[in-house]
Amino acid sequence: MDILQTIQNLREELNLHNHNYYVLDAPTISDLEFDQKLKQLQALENQHPEYFDENSPTQRVGGTITKNFQTVAHDYRMYSLDNSYSKEDLIDWENRIQKVLGNVEIEYTCELKYDGASISITYENGKLKCAVTRGDGFQGDDVTNNIKTIRSIPLKLKGNNYPEKFDIRGEIILPLAGFEKMNQELIEIGETPYSNPRNTASGSLKLQDSTEVAKRPLDCLLYFLIGNNLPFLSQYDGLQTAKSWGFKVPNEARLAHSLDEVFAFIDHWDTHRHKLPYETDGVVIKVNRFQYQEELGYTAKSPRWAIAYKFKSEQVSTILNSISYQVGRTGAITPVANLKPVQLAGTIVKRASLHNADQIEKLDIRVGDTVFVEKGGEIIPKIIAVDLTQRPENTEPTQYITHCPECQTELVRTEGEANHYCPNFYGCPPQIIGRIQHYISRKAMDIEGLGGETVTLLFNNNLVHNYADLYELTVEQVLPLERMAQKSAENLVNGIENSKKIPFENVLYALGIRYVGETVAKKLAKHYKNIDALQQASLMDLILVDEIGDRIASSVIEFFENEENQRIINRLKAYGIQFEIVEKINPNATQKLVGKTFVVSGVFSIYSRDGLKEAIEDNGGKVGSSISAKTDYVIAGENMGPAKLEKANQLKIPIITEHDFIQLLNDAEH
Ligand code: AMP
Ligand code: ZN
Repeated sequence: MDILQTIQNLREELNLHNHNYYVLDAPTISDLEFDQKLKQLQALENQHPEYFDENSPTQRVGGTITKNFQTVAHDYRMYSLDNSYSKEDLIDWENRIQKVLGNVEIEYTCELKYDGASISITYENGKLKCAVTRGDGFQGDDVTNNIKTIRSIPLKLKGNNYPEKFDIRGEIILPLAGFEKMNQELIEIGETPYSNPRNTASGSLKLQDSTEVAKRPLDCLLYFLIGNNLPFLSQYDGLQTAKSWGFKVPNEARLAHSLDEVFAFIDHWDTHRHKLPYETDGVVIKVNRFQYQEELGYTAKSPRWAIAYKFKSEQVSTILNSISYQVGRTGAITPVANLKPVQLAGTIVKRASLHNADQIEKLDIRVGDTVFVEKGGEIIPKIIAVDLTQRPENTEPTQYITHCPECQTELVRTEGEANHYCPNFYGCPPQIIGRIQHYISRKAMDIEGLGGETVTLLFNNNLVHNYADLYELTVEQVLPLERMAQKSAENLVNGIENSKKIPFENVLYALGIRYVGETVAKKLAKHYKNIDALQQASLMDLILVDEIGDRIASSVIEFFENEENQRIINRLKAYGIQFEIVEKINPNATQKLVGKTFVVSGVFSIYSRDGLKEAIEDNGGKVGSSISAKTDYVIAGENMGPAKLEKANQLKIPIITEHDFIQLLNDAEH
């Protein structure tokens, strides 16, 4: 079979598996098999850039940088929806409709109103062409590269009855579980968590680096098609057809034959919506038949044939019993409100998050107050206001704690930061335990046989005081711990032993340096290659690394300057932890570019930026970060920076395109 055919078969296969996994939620192969096929395709595409396809499943990992999003006009305007808040509002709406249509029987499609950011995606000849945000309804931002990373959005359609060109509209959402997980990771590295899924979803669309978007667990729920020659005559059939083309259309939509059936739909979802994996803020009711929709037309802002019914956001009032303060792994203090237990959105709420001192001050919240609690996107509900009319007499404003509740050290608050910190990093129990728990976690050292609770036990029993101590543990020492048996004790010690094989980038993340999350750890590991080089890097060096800012750089410096950390790292070295990157061996590597240094600038169409850098390195060349006399070539894509251009011209360094680069590779000997 020829290469192109192999590539095309792989693409088709991967598209199908993506659909099974992300749209149907019914995968038919393992993640491992999927990854292997994807890698195989990626390798073939790298070797054969002439078969590049912007809609290949390999493009989903991102890799493009967009500095400015282009403004694009919508072919069809994106309207808003009128809102309604009661059944009376809906009866009025139906009366208005009947005035126009006469006394015909009207069917309605009832859908959930997904709470995210709206998007319009254009397909041409069955392929994703571009994706544009709503903007002002007439024109929006072209966010195609970011949208393509969302796995549930088909890059190629299934079936064959789609028109040549059409737009499909939907909502980009961040499912609750994914949102919660993202926040957990932020909290772990000492960052402030996101406030709600909707804003995070819409913010994600405008990230400049599509690789970052690819990492976010975004999803897209579709609800509306528009274009010429659509092969259906009603909204409901449109939804079913979109589904058959491979789009993710939620199954909850129903056809209602009367307003009473609409009301039943609303009543059902008013209570059941909290069980959905994503947030909704209402129901959208649409006149089903296109013929009637056309007769009804539009007002200045919205269709007359559709209306949103907004759920009342669920709120209850209860009493604030006390405020407690938690100390995190990085020393950050989080105040928590302890409430008189109350029923809210199907669960009993006892605690609510209070974020930080500013918020307590802003709300002027006091123990004994009656407070309003609301359930938003987070699992932990929020306090939105204090009912001042219910305030008991003689209350005092809340005094934020000045000392750590766990170790009594005086707290600090850095200028410009929202949180107070306990600076006793090496003596404050929750910080010590938290750091070890982070060290053993799945994305860090992935230590099997050891869980968070056991870490607490080990610490409380004076067996470990830092993560290096783990490597000294013996079966005899852990055996007496609660719920330990011979087998589990052996597993624990073996699990720790096995972590010596974990690659450097994970180790770097595991160290728990503030602001060094997974991505940053990877970048640093790739750049410095080993811990000694990283340890010796100056602040300036660090800032020059792609995407490492001031804040991260200072935190890295501070970490390595600390003597306790140095001692721990030396011990880890002695135990045989990986402190060096193991270069992956590429079977297609050549020596064609040995001795040549390239600087890459701008946005490319054949390669992703990282892909291009990889191609240079795989062929023996070097990638420089800035243009100097040592640079042999500048590979320029679209939007190359003017400063770089000037510098290259000044130094008379040849500026080539990615096509020239491919030519260069083809012409080179060896
Ligand atoms: P609003 O922003 O309040 O004017 O509401 C209109 C927005 O609701 C639309 O722009 C869509 O982004 C969003 N929406 C969410 N779910 C649906 C749905 N099922 N049908 C139509 N619009 C929806
Ligand atoms: Zn403390």
